[in-house]
This record gives sequence, C-alpha cells and structure tokens, in this order.
Amino acid sequence: MIDLIDVSFHYENGTEALHNINLRINNGEFAFVVGSSGAGKSSILKLLLRETVASSGQVIVNGFDLNRLKPGQIPKFRRSIGVVFQDFRLIPGMTVYENVAFSLRVTDRPMREIRQKVPEMLELMNLRHKARQYPHELSGGEQQRVALARALVNSPPLIIADEPTGNIDPELSYQIVEMLQRINRERKTTILMVTHAHDLVKYFGGRTVNIESGQIVFDDYILGEQGETSRPV
Ligand code: ADP
Repeated sequence: MIDLIDVSFHYENGTEALHNINLRINNGEFAFVVGSSGAGKSSILKLLLRETVASSGQVIVNGFDLNRLKPGQIPKFRRSIGVVFQDFRLIPGMTVYENVAFSLRVTDRPMREIRQKVPEMLELMNLRHKARQYPHELSGGEQQRVALARALVNSPPLIIADEPTGNIDPELSYQIVEMLQRINRERKTTILMVTHAHDLVKYFGGRTVNIESGQIVFDDYILGEQGETSRPV
C-alpha cells in the first residue's frame, strides 16, 4: 500500500517539486501516474523508494513509515518493492536466467528455491526459450520482460514501473502493460506505473493520477477503449 499524506518536497535550491500531495493506493490496485515533463513524477518515485525524504507530510509504503525509517531498515524496505526502469538495467554479462536468479542470490535464498522460482517466472513472462541468451541478444520488449521477471521473483507486494515502455516499440508496449495487468490480477500485486504514453492509458483505462506543477490535478477511474474501467468492486 502507498499512502502519501500532505506531502510537500523541495530540492536544496528551493524548487518546490511537490505541493501538498495526498495519494493513497490500496493493496491490489493498479494505477497509472501521468504528467508532463517537470510535473513531479520522478520526485514522487524518489520519495516512494526512499531515495529522498519528504520536506513535510507522511510517506507510508508497504507499512514502512519512510520519514522514520532507520538506515539499517532501508534494504529490507527496498526488498518489499519490485522496481522496473525505462532502461531495463539488466546485467550485461549475465544470461536471462542468471539476471533473474541474481535477485534471489543477493538475499541468500537456497539453491532449491532458485531452481524452482526462476523457471516459473520465465514461464510467466513467456521467456523460457530465452533463458540462456544475454540481454544484448534480446529485443527491447523481451529485455523489459526479463526486468519484470527479476522484479517479481521475490514476490514483492508492490511493483513500481518508471516509464517501462519508454524504450520499447509501440506495439510491444501494449504487451508490457498487459503483463503488468496480469500480474496485478493473478498475484494481487499492487502496481504503480509512471508513463508519458497517453495512448496506453486511454486504451487500458483504470485509475489515473495526473500530476502537474507538483500537484495532483486529477485522480479518478477512466474508461478504457476496451470498455473496462478496472475499477475495484
Ligand atoms: P518529472 O519526473 O515529472 O519530469 P521531476 O520530479 O523530475 O518531474 O521535477 C519536478 C520539479 O523539480 C521540476 O521543476 C524540476 O525542474 C525540479 N527538479 C528536479 N530535480 C531537481 C534537482 N535535483 N534540483 C532542483 N530541482 C529539481
């Protein structure tokens, strides 16, 4: 769950990037965050990942009160979020299998668990046949699916996707959002996706949060072109 309560944030030079933000995203929700360049999207993500701390207000993510989080608790907190970036950030010298397995190895998970979970994740992302390939041998869409498999393999309750379709061919972008929606539906993972791609948001519909000049100017469910709102019942 994400809960931002009266959050403001200014950078050291005095720029107020966020002004009085109130945003709650419940467990199991899927939300798009949209806004023009400079609107404050990255600043929100930095707060949610505890790369920075709010100037005022409360930021609660997955039950962690980020204003009070001790430095020693940060790694545990970060492991409760799967993050997907625009530029994939895969490890070039590792195969697809190793990239996904690495996420489990860093937390010292037993070999048995790795051997079971990695193929499961690759299967979910339709990547089983690519397990032995290296990132540079894959298309952008496939690389992003590896990044998704890596983000999911630890079963985090929350996925934050920062412009995940930004480096992907338009037709494949739909596949990535479909994958995210499937994860949301089947695994009840909460998903927050930041995007510039208005056509995707219009197509899929659902909860859409629009930020402009550091403020939320719209937060509601929109009807997708497929005729579904994804509004929780
Ligand atoms: P977005 O991700 O929506 O493009 P940002 O969160 O990056 O927007 O920026 C919000 C505001 O904060 C903008 O006015 C931007 O110029 C400013 N800003 C971003 N990063 C910094 C920084 N490191 N120092 C000062 N101002 C910044």
